[in-house]
Amino acid sequence: MLMQAVVAREPATAIPQPPAAFLGAYHLHEGSLGREEATMISGGCLCGAVRYSTNDEPILTRLCWCRLCQYLTTGNAAVSVCFPSKGMTITGETRDFQGIADSGNRMHRRFCPTCGTQLFSEGEARPHLIFVRAGTLDDPNIARPSATIWTSQAPAWACVDASLPSWEGQPPPPTLPN
Ligand SMILES: [Zn+2]
Ligand SMILES: [Zn+2]
Repeated sequence: MLMQAVVAREPATAIPQPPAAFLGAYHLHEGSLGREEATMISGGCLCGAVRYSTNDEPILTRLCWCRLCQYLTTGNAAVSVCFPSKGMTITGETRDFQGIADSGNRMHRRFCPTCGTQLFSEGEARPHLIFVRAGTLDDPNIARPSATIWTSQAPAWACVDASLPSWEGQPPPPTLPN
C-alpha cells in the first residue's frame, strides 16, 4: 500500500530533460558527408536557464573532498570534469562565487542565480581549463573519475573509491592534450 501511495504521488517539480537535440549527442556519428563529425558534449542547470556545450573531449574527471566542495555539493565530493576552456560555449546568466585557494590561485565557482545549480569552476592561474560539475552534464556517464583529491578533509563516513589513486591534498594541475 505504501509503495502504491508513493508511486501515485506526483513529483513536486518535474525533473528536467535535456532538449531533444541534445539527446544522444555524445558519440561519434556519420556526418552528412560520410565522415565522422566531432563529438559534442552538452549540459546545463536544473531550471534550464544556463546551457553549455563543447566539441572537446574531457581531459580528466576528479572527485574532490575539500571542505569547500562539501558545501557546494550538499556534503559529498564534487565531481568535476575538466575541459579546455577555449572550446566551451556557455549561454545564460551565471553568478560567480570567488575564493582564494591554498595555492593563492583565485577561483571562480559559477552557478545559476535562478535555481542555484553549481556549474563551473575556474582558476585564474589556469585560464585554459574549465571544470564542469558532472551532475549538470546531459549525460553524466561522460564523467569517468580518475582520482580522488583532498581526502584529508573528507568526513569519516565518506566513501572513497579504493580502486582510484587518491591525494590527501591538491595534485598537480591537469595538462592539455596535444
Ligand atoms: Zn538554473
Ligand atoms: Zn574541492
